[in-house]
Amino acid sequence: MLKHGLMMDRPLLLSGIIEHAAAQFGTVEVVSRETHGPLHRYTYADCAVRARRLAKALAALGLEPGATVGSIAWNNHRHLEAYYAVSGSGMVMHTCNPRLHPQQLVYIINHAEDEVVLFDATFAPLIKGIAAACPKVRAWVCLAEAAHTPAIEGVAHIVAYEDLIAPHDDAFEWPSFDERMGAALCYTSGTTGNPKGALYSHRAIALNAITICNPGIICLSTRETVLPVVPMFHINAWCLPYAAPVAGAKLVLPGPKLDGASLYELIESERVTVSAGVPTIWQGLIAHLDAHGLRFSTMVRTGTGGSAMPLALIAKFADEYGVEVRHGWGMTETTAVATMGALTGAEASLGAAERHAIVSKQGRSVFGIEIKVVDANGATVPRDGATQGELMVRGQWILERYFKAEGSALIDGWFPTGDIATIAADGVMQIRDRTKDVIKTGGEWISSIDLENAAVAHPAVAMAAVIGVKHPKWDERPLLFVVKKPGQALEKAEILDFLAQRVAKWWVPDDVMFLDALPVGGTGKVQKNELRSKYGGTFS
Ligand code: AMP
Repeated sequence: MLKHGLMMDRPLLLSGIIEHAAAQFGTVEVVSRETHGPLHRYTYADCAVRARRLAKALAALGLEPGATVGSIAWNNHRHLEAYYAVSGSGMVMHTCNPRLHPQQLVYIINHAEDEVVLFDATFAPLIKGIAAACPKVRAWVCLAEAAHTPAIEGVAHIVAYEDLIAPHDDAFEWPSFDERMGAALCYTSGTTGNPKGALYSHRAIALNAITICNPGIICLSTRETVLPVVPMFHINAWCLPYAAPVAGAKLVLPGPKLDGASLYELIESERVTVSAGVPTIWQGLIAHLDAHGLRFSTMVRTGTGGSAMPLALIAKFADEYGVEVRHGWGMTETTAVATMGALTGAEASLGAAERHAIVSKQGRSVFGIEIKVVDANGATVPRDGATQGELMVRGQWILERYFKAEGSALIDGWFPTGDIATIAADGVMQIRDRTKDVIKTGGEWISSIDLENAAVAHPAVAMAAVIGVKHPKWDERPLLFVVKKPGQALEKAEILDFLAQRVAKWWVPDDVMFLDALPVGGTGKVQKNELRSKYGGTFS
């Protein structure tokens, strides 16, 4: 008969992370770019005190465990405090992506049932446009002092964060509860229709945070200073705001300034050793270094993912700037990192070109995560590095079902990723393509189906199709194909203008091609592969 282990049964809760950092690394700094410009500097001990005060303030507003608190905010120290105050209180931290179309923002705020929304002053115009459509939100909290909190015409219940926490001291005991309770909610706009929510448990986030500290992943310790450029609204900044205090690493939060010059200045002034962000961010940073003949004095490693990191950029980082790229794969549904392209000892002694080629693949699954590739019938394909199929994933921090969904998202216990991959005999996975009908641009999704639906709403459009075309800066950009209704006139500018009024600005296609007909397959579906192979070159 199996024997029970005789260890304590203590839940893995996020409040434990910030209290660990406060107690063990109380003097380690958290540096944050304020939305109005200056750098703010304090310690993990200060952060924990203010998180406790915010927890009391939210309770005083009448929020109860299980309530949802939204945020539309940059990476900054108040957002960090909210991560811990909200989840630590047993509430759910719902990070909203400000790049979503306002209608989608309204949808996710209402779907999540946010009772309070925290926002940065940058997003005041956005709040103005959506507040009336979010009736459950009882307070809009600006992450600033009163002096930097804008009045927003027509929006009642705006309060400055500092005023909200001012009446409260930090005499607060974090509640204890089951580690499988929801801690954070992040919606993916990766598919068509309404965004879908991934509700991360405390356990999932804590396990992921511990994992990514490992030397083979991003390698965090008290010796490191980490700069998460990946936004805190995108999969919790790949869990780095949890991992840094687990490891006692100094944390640097860049606020709204994500251009190459600002990032370089911050990396140098704060002596950042490790950073993480999508490839587009690194293109901007490297372009700045190239243009000004600059060098990094402390940065040695950078984590990247979200889309494929170009081989040339990996080589440039390593060979010219001495920065090792750690290229991972993950998705909103995988609580950040699931596979990582770190080198084994034997691989590390290969020549530069061979090493970079290995890193450009998406790597091996980390402990806790299993991956397999299946064919159209669901049968596992051989690990030969050549046979492609859909990548399936399972593990302790993989989504089982979407928030409020009736059914499970799994197939035979595995999550279907919508990515087409190969796995080699040595376990290295490589993303080859995508079955998801989406375009990934600068790390963010554009739903091609939503764009097509918007285009066919134009009275002169009979059929529309959108594909992603490679782009040197943005990875992919949308290209729209239009078949006009007989006898109708339509110019490129007119349809682009029409779309600009219906979708987020950055969704508007880079180009339009008018065709006589779209290639249609046996099942009546537009054959996008045909469009891709014929027209899917590269935008300059
Ligand atoms: P998201 O949920 O927005 O983070 O998007 C996840 C998707 O981004 C994955 O399903 C992939 O399609 C893509 N992706 C993430 N990381 C990589 C990578 N390293 N290389 C290629 N595609 C990636």
